[in-house]
Amino acid sequence: MSERILVCVAWPYANGPLHLGHVAGAYLPADIFARYHRTKGNEVAMVSGSDQHGTPITIKADLEGVKPAEIVARYHRVFLENWRKLGITWDLFTTTGTPNHAEVTHDIFLTLLKKGYIYKDTVSQPFCPKCQRYLPDRYVEGTCPFCAYTNARGDQCETCGKPLNPVDLIGIHCRICGSTPVFQNSEHFFLKLSAFNAQLLEWVKKQTHWRSNVLNFTQRYLEDGLKDRAITRDIEWGVSVPVAGFENKRIYVWFEAVIGYLSATREWAANQGKPEKWRDFWQKPDTKIYNFIGKDNIPFHCIIWPAMLMGYGGLNLPYDVPANEFLTIEGRKISTSRNWAVWLPDYLSRYDPDPLRYLLSINMPETSDTDFSWREFVRRNNDELVATYGNLAHRVLTFTYKNFDGAIPTPGQFDDDDKSILDLAKKTVETVDGLLYKCVFKESVRTAMSLAQQTNRYLDRKSPWRVIKQDWQASGTALYVAITVLSALSIILYPFLPFSSQKLWQYLGFKDAVQNGGWKLTTPPAGQKLQMPQPLFIKLDEKQVLEEESKRLGQPS
Ligand SMILES: [Zn+2]
Ligand SMILES: [Zn+2]
Repeated sequence: MSERILVCVAWPYANGPLHLGHVAGAYLPADIFARYHRTKGNEVAMVSGSDQHGTPITIKADLEGVKPAEIVARYHRVFLENWRKLGITWDLFTTTGTPNHAEVTHDIFLTLLKKGYIYKDTVSQPFCPKCQRYLPDRYVEGTCPFCAYTNARGDQCETCGKPLNPVDLIGIHCRICGSTPVFQNSEHFFLKLSAFNAQLLEWVKKQTHWRSNVLNFTQRYLEDGLKDRAITRDIEWGVSVPVAGFENKRIYVWFEAVIGYLSATREWAANQGKPEKWRDFWQKPDTKIYNFIGKDNIPFHCIIWPAMLMGYGGLNLPYDVPANEFLTIEGRKISTSRNWAVWLPDYLSRYDPDPLRYLLSINMPETSDTDFSWREFVRRNNDELVATYGNLAHRVLTFTYKNFDGAIPTPGQFDDDDKSILDLAKKTVETVDGLLYKCVFKESVRTAMSLAQQTNRYLDRKSPWRVIKQDWQASGTALYVAITVLSALSIILYPFLPFSSQKLWQYLGFKDAVQNGGWKLTTPPAGQKLQMPQPLFIKLDEKQVLEEESKRLGQPS
């Protein structure tokens, strides 16, 4: 029975390159999940795009003295290039700047307005007397009233994750000139979140399959009580407000960015020449929608977006929101202003994608923060990818290629040792299936690697390279068993290590894409011609990597 899965991934602000925190937080787990479901033969759409609105973009444009559209175009190109190199397989990666997105946003806005879930009110907005302008969201900074973080922004505190309004900030100041703003009245639209408090709480309590950190955070948040939020801003860059008298205002970026999941699905469907296809994903109740995000986005995806969907009516709510915690770098919190980050374009210009995908998978910040260090990167590459998995594949394939006419040997009778390792391979395929289905990534990749370790031990016991001199058949049987395990590994590691899995699949003599093999233990046919194998991974020089990288991290770029 095939399933329908919609993978919705956080929209990155197109105001700068992405770093490893973003990759580990949302993009890599989403891609692993989408690849897994595609291999299972399920109907998958994975969508997102560049978030081109909001003050993060205009602040960057102001700093460079260019138009916001120029910033957006630049980083959207960088994103697309990075996705290709890292192997993030979008069905659509669009932007929030399309006419389609504006149209879908207006429809949701006007429907909620008509139903009374959006209302007009006067709000006191910070206005900078020196800059002579309103200061929405990130144009102001101050101390967070909840956790006392001193550089909290006007839209959200990046330390405790609580959404904020500028008026909440203690010691508020203009980020452009440092002046203390005055508050002036301005008319805005509000989303009546308070109307959904009870309904959301009831819904969230039923989501027992959610990660406990996501569930607990959301439940506590709802129990504290929801306040209505202003969803328009005094700015010129963004989706227009479809109401007369609001020509100089724009829809708040957060209100419209989450609508992007819906508008992107519609755009994707239209691109397929099936403009009504989006309805399968958003209106059929058997579709499962997953939102892959970092933990700072939990309030928007577990509360605000579901409230908007409840108010609009007739559309599927998220099935799961597997939000990840944060990645630290060399033991310290990522800080883009201090350049304490590993930038994705930099990484991809120096190393292969699979070793990063591997480390960020086996060390994924699923339920607590985890740390990235270059020492661990080199160690896991050399000890696990090269010495355990890569070496298993390489010694089996080169020896078979040389001694069995470049083809998979015909096995003799299996003994208990053969049977038990084949059985382990079959069980591992099933175990990883069950784990990935529940978005448990770290344990999946550990389980897969443990099969590689067990198979190395099996080969040490069987020693086909020594046995071949006396018993050609026994050697061929052991190699056949190892080759069968390798085919299992290429499939279960494919969502994590797509590039090396595809190579291995071809070395095993298969001609198609590894994901066509399906999520099962495929027994490669005896006699199938192998392809001349090459090493799957390259050993890294620890000293050289550490020296190189220490010149970059935390240094002015
Ligand atoms: Zn805070
Ligand atoms: Zn100012």
